[in-house]
Amino acid sequence: MRLFAGTPFDRPPRCEVCGELEADCRCPPPPVVETPPEQQTLKLSVEKRNRGKLVTVVRGLRLSPEGLAALLTKLKSTCGAGGTVADGNLEIQGDHVGRLRTALAGLGFRIRG
Ligand SMILES: [Zn+2]
Repeated sequence: MRLFAGTPFDRPPRCEVCGELEADCRCPPPPVVETPPEQQTLKLSVEKRNRGKLVTVVRGLRLSPEGLAALLTKLKSTCGAGGTVADGNLEIQGDHVGRLRTALAGLGFRIRG
């Protein structure tokens, strides 16, 4: 009988789902739990970029990178415009404050200002 048999020291960590050693576990990562929109207060602003181009910036989002990308896709199609994720904010090309306010409020987000 080994010294630590039967104690937690004898057991390398195992995955709780498949029971494999954690090093051998091939389980998918657990789903990302996003902060509900109701708990996110956003601020919309129109800013000028290079050569006077306007972008609408959505600040205050607390989403995973996947959540941000999904929301960006939705908003780009709502506005029929291009856009990007920048520093955790979303930037939609053009002045779309009105449309974005309606779309985001419809998704349950709170909007300040
Ligand atoms: Zn596993």
